[in-house]
Amino acid sequence: MILNQVFDAINIGIVILDREMKVMKWNRWMEIHSGIDADKIVNASIYDFFPDLEKPKFIRNCKSVFTFGNFSFFSQKLHHYLFPFKSSGYLDSEFEYMQQNCAMGPLRNEENEIAYMFIYVQDVTEVAIYEHKLIQMNEKDGLTGIYNRRYLELKLKEEFNRHKRYSRDFSLIMFDIDHFKRVNDEYGHQCGDFVIQSVCSRITSLVRNIDIFARYGGEEFCCMLPETGLEGALQVAERFRKAVEEQENQYDDLNIKVTISLGVSELREEMVSPEIIMKKADDALYRAKHEGRNRVEIMD
Ligand code: GH3
Ligand code: MG
Ligand code: MG
Repeated sequence: MILNQVFDAINIGIVILDREMKVMKWNRWMEIHSGIDADKIVNASIYDFFPDLEKPKFIRNCKSVFTFGNFSFFSQKLHHYLFPFKSSGYLDSEFEYMQQNCAMGPLRNEENEIAYMFIYVQDVTEVAIYEHKLIQMNEKDGLTGIYNRRYLELKLKEEFNRHKRYSRDFSLIMFDIDHFKRVNDEYGHQCGDFVIQSVCSRITSLVRNIDIFARYGGEEFCCMLPETGLEGALQVAERFRKAVEEQENQYDDLNIKVTISLGVSELREEMVSPEIIMKKADDALYRAKHEGRNRVEIMD
């Protein structure tokens, strides 16, 4: 009686199942989040109400509980959830369903036989949202939403080593918006920010999934192109250049047009560190500026 009150007051979901997977107990928390009353589900098979649970991994875990008395844990990081409960109350959450850490284990009767098992369900949606935000803040640039410099440098090291080890093509495009100070001076910093965002979103639409496009600094960007040689990278860079040149950036009733200068480099046998391929692209970019801007230069 007293235990039943605890059972219903506690802020986690608790389910007790028998060996036939029939529901014996379904606490108040489970009722609220599933929308299924205990009266309805108790004595029914859990699979009748949650057919998606009837998967090999879950079945295996239940067997292991009933046969060996083992405990198992379902981590949110791996599975997201066991019971599909709609997540609600979180603004701009990327999770459609409540994120759950769940565990299951044996319950023994007076004869010390495993007659039942329990499942507990813990709502960790809030933690998962914060975790996701932290990761994003660490990897993404606040103004543009593309990768930041920290992430770029981390990935560049990884990709550089990987492509070098397997002698695979790998190239880099660095670019910088031309005469950007003028945009800020003429239209203000806010408008400048808008132009940066606008250029980024145009370029984002042109890169492949495997490319890594990042903001290197102010109005300077870098795009890593795995499995792409100099020739291919040059074509991509030219596509970037043309797209930005043709783009009309509408800010209030202003129509602002900008151009970019680009430098392209590729991984070579003699390059000993990721900084070198970066430096080569940067040198080429510098040359593109020097040669009149709105152009692509390749490493020498
Ligand atoms: P260049 O063609 O040689 O690149 O000329 P530039 O005027 O673009 O020169 P530079 O690249 O050296 O200067 C970039 C300017 O961009 C300086 C800085 O005030 C501005 N800037 C950098 N980051 C931001 C930003 O986040 N927002 C805005 N609005 N302006 C920025
Ligand atoms: Mg510039
Ligand atoms: Mg610059």
